[in-house]
Amino acid sequence: MSFLNLSGEKYVCEKCGKTLTVKLERTGEYQIGDMAVFEQKYINEELNFSEAEKDIYYYYHNVLCEDCAKKVRNPYYFDENDNLGILLNRFYAFENEIDELPCHYVEGVLSSLNKEKLMDMIGNVIAKTQNTHDTPKKLLKKRLQLIKTELTDLINNGFEKSEQYIRFKTEMPELIDGIKSEAKKIKQKTILILEDVMEPHNLNPYVEHELTIAVPTEKDKDFNVYTYANGKDFTKNMLDEISEFFEESEEQLKYNINDKTKNKLKDMMKFLSEHGITEEDVLN
Ligand SMILES: [Zn+2]
Repeated sequence: MSFLNLSGEKYVCEKCGKTLTVKLERTGEYQIGDMAVFEQKYINEELNFSEAEKDIYYYYHNVLCEDCAKKVRNPYYFDENDNLGILLNRFYAFENEIDELPCHYVEGVLSSLNKEKLMDMIGNVIAKTQNTHDTPKKLLKKRLQLIKTELTDLINNGFEKSEQYIRFKTEMPELIDGIKSEAKKIKQKTILILEDVMEPHNLNPYVEHELTIAVPTEKDKDFNVYTYANGKDFTKNMLDEISEFFEESEEQLKYNINDKTKNKLKDMMKFLSEHGITEEDVLN
């Protein structure tokens, strides 16, 4: 049910009805979600898109044409290059770091280890597991697990002192303050966002795969269209999203670091032998 047979997209000006029709690279079933299927079918029939009766639909976008956008009182044209746009771009760059930073950090700590440092660590583990009646196989397993725990602790404990983390925790609140103060300036305005109708985009708010992505190939007219929002809603949504991200970022970072560490140290003996350490060294 969450699929709709699409022939293209229509951007319809809410004020004057002027319509821009866009052809898609692929016509056919798109997975846009149950609710959207219901809405789109309803709108297609309401607006009499000619092919609705053949069970072929156009994805409808509610927009303002450029003439009607000019009549908006107190508009704010959202622009990637103005103050707010620049701050938001910096913020989204941080969002990417949540994935990238843990990789670099874990790699960094592990590559700072050499045979000597690892042998020190192994020495401690051996000292802790001297008096045991385990078989060599069992003892090796036990010691490898302890070495893994020590390495994991080393990585986790060092993270909060790392340069990357400190930068994250100091720059992020500053950035959020900056965005908040820019948001105040546009709260009373109508926000207009220029849509690039020829840019590939996802038609499903929840998932993304080849049956949700629309790839436009051709438009039948040439005028700008804008999506719009009232400033109050726009800034509230933006600030909610940003603070939620910031609140969860620390936990997410730690989770990602754990995940990367686990991957890197999955085969402990292999990791050690890459540093020239043998099973004999661990068994002593
Ligand atoms: Zn219009």
